Amino acid sequence: MKPDPANDNPKPCQICGKPSAEKYRPFCSARCADVDLHRWLGGRYAIPAVETDEPDDETILPDDGNASGDD
Ligand SMILES: [Zn+2]
Repeated sequence: MKPDPANDNPKPCQICGKPSAEKYRPFCSARCADVDLHRWLGGRYAIPAVETDEPDDETILPDDGNASGDD
């Protein structure tokens, strides 16, 4: 019977260093996962919202007629 790697978590929680729980990997608990999430949302990783205010009109391409019906 070989050891199951999924049953053993070699990586500790990135927040507090406790053994990570399988349910909250790579963290040990929902709280630590939440802490990491807020680091992303509230820190320098914050991404400014970009709104495009352009109308979604159909793009009509000009027909030159050079490559068709040249007979
Ligand atoms: Zn933790």
